[in-house]
Amino acid sequence: MSAALIDGKQIAEQINTENAAEVARLKRDRGLTPGLAVILVGDNPASAAYVASKDKMCARLGMHSEKIALPSATAQAGLLAMIDRLNQQENIHGILVQSPTPKQISEEAVFAAIAPSKDVDGFHPLNVGKVALGDPSGFVPCTPAGVQELLARSGVAVEGAHVVVLGRSRIVGRPVSLILSQKARNANATVTVAHSRSKGLAEICRSADILIAAIGVARFVKPEMVREGAVVIDVGINRVEDPTAPKGYRLVGDVDFDAVKEKAGLLTPVPGGVGPMTIAMLMRNTIRAATMRCGLA
Ligand code: NDP
Repeated sequence: MSAALIDGKQIAEQINTENAAEVARLKRDRGLTPGLAVILVGDNPASAAYVASKDKMCARLGMHSEKIALPSATAQAGLLAMIDRLNQQENIHGILVQSPTPKQISEEAVFAAIAPSKDVDGFHPLNVGKVALGDPSGFVPCTPAGVQELLARSGVAVEGAHVVVLGRSRIVGRPVSLILSQKARNANATVTVAHSRSKGLAEICRSADILIAAIGVARFVKPEMVREGAVVIDVGINRVEDPTAPKGYRLVGDVDFDAVKEKAGLLTPVPGGVGPMTIAMLMRNTIRAATMRCGLA
């Protein structure tokens, strides 16, 4: 039996329709336009494409956006000074620095420099702590928030389910494991976090009702790692060479999609699964930052 697919594009579109309505309401009732600043350091083409799509989405939703491109030789002090200016800027409610940054810049220093109230990526230690504690006033990182929303809007019962998260990064694995185990709506799961040092990975994965793959290894999850009928969420975005593709490469996930779809009950494609959700949740976090700033939330 072939798995049903979760259409992340369509679900993200629903959220963006809600986002646009909220932006219109804030403008009409409060004279408030949510604003996002995105800083790109260097000329990584994939990062430039991500920044352009965030900028475009802001325009589509009627939000204010500022795209700041800095040369790859930018010193850390210069970037921190730019963040400080944006922290003070009234019409900017959310700030993000596109990852990865050049090696002379410490991402930890960048995360800590962004005002927690404008940290719409949710990487500032204060927001990380709030999410760990289950304090809803914190900003949840966008990809984990997108995974949770995708599950909820697909009617997947997370409460009481055994969720296995493959990966423990600050950006995806760790926060998704924290939010799904919280005592909260669309959560209350029993969560196992697995990583590169885990023993018996296939067996751990097979015990999952919901398997979330976020490791960055193309097609790593094979059918023998998936229980029949399980829900499989593929966060991975990996480039693999493909001379037949227009750009000479193709994007694939961390799940061997063609093989696993014969075993899973519900599965996200790559592209078109988690990816579009990330940007929708970024917009949602920015709108929330604007409303919080004005004491409306
Ligand atoms: P990181 O490289 O930061 O983390 C990878 C994690 O996977 C680590 O915890 C690592 O373990 C674990 N890991 C790596 N190899 C293995 C293995 N063979 N077996 C078990 N565990 C392993 O990656 P990210 O979390 O940033 O990203 C993961 C994937 O998600 C990437 O493909 C990335 O492109 C994608 N991504 C997609 C987004 C979206 O919007 N859809 C957004 C962000 C990321 P250890 O800790 O032991 O090193």
